[in-house]
Amino acid sequence: MAEVTLNDVRKVYAGGVEAVKGVSLDIPDGGFCVLVGPSGCGKSTLLRMVAGLETISSGQVAIGGRVVNEIEPAERDIAMVFQNYALYPHMSVYDNIAYGLRNRGTPKDEIDRRVQEAARILAIEPFLQRKPRALSGGQRQRVAMGRAIVRKPQVFLFDEPLSNLDAKLRVQMRVEIKKLQRALGVTSIYVTHDQVEAMTLSDKLVVMSGGQVEQVGTPTEVYRRP
Ligand code: ADP
Ligand code: ADP
Repeated sequence: MAEVTLNDVRKVYAGGVEAVKGVSLDIPDGGFCVLVGPSGCGKSTLLRMVAGLETISSGQVAIGGRVVNEIEPAERDIAMVFQNYALYPHMSVYDNIAYGLRNRGTPKDEIDRRVQEAARILAIEPFLQRKPRALSGGQRQRVAMGRAIVRKPQVFLFDEPLSNLDAKLRVQMRVEIKKLQRALGVTSIYVTHDQVEAMTLSDKLVVMSGGQVEQVGTPTEVYRRP
């Protein structure tokens, strides 16, 4: 767990697109921050900079008080969940979840304990030996979350994780994500263009527009304003 702070963060892509124009934010330890705004407003770029998947043109990102700009992505203690799940199709669910721990050289019995624990929390124990193609969309999204929680990271990053699911599953998974985050208490940043998702999930809501922060507050504060 850790506080995440952004200080005047900017991104100019090669070619000159100014995707993020000086964003400063403070997400407290254990907080759930949702970035909401229309397509192209810079949400994903901002998230990817926190993840270390995109270089930061200027400004600073700090996790737990440590400036991460110069830390290799693999050494940042974060886990990211994407809309396309990014599961390995040739590996079983178990191996997909265990992958990150194996890469870090975690002992086998500890991997097993943690994979089983994540599978129990997400109710995917019956599917551990299946390949991703033999799962429904909702089950795949749970596996993707299993991969994130098994690492016990300091920070969760979510990039539109529910946008490929049908409306009913979206509601169900929304509730599950919130429960999970409360139970684990991991600082989370969640990107969406869906205002209902933003309202129900966030305790800190950040409305973005044109690469800048337009409003910040609790969901009630933000949506009460005229
Ligand atoms: P960086 O500044 O991070 O090096 P680049 O401009 O080199 O980014 O682009 C990285 C990748 O993103 C390239 O493969 C490029 O084709 C792709 N890309 C370029 N423009 C866009 C865009 N407007 N939206 C999404 N992806 C893009
Ligand atoms: P959002 O997540 O809010 O849809 P993005 O962060 O994906 O917004 O994009 C912000 C702006 O940066 C857009 O104008 C987009 O076209 C541009 N962009 C995104 N990725 C790249 C890239 N790799 N190279 C160049 N421009 C990009």
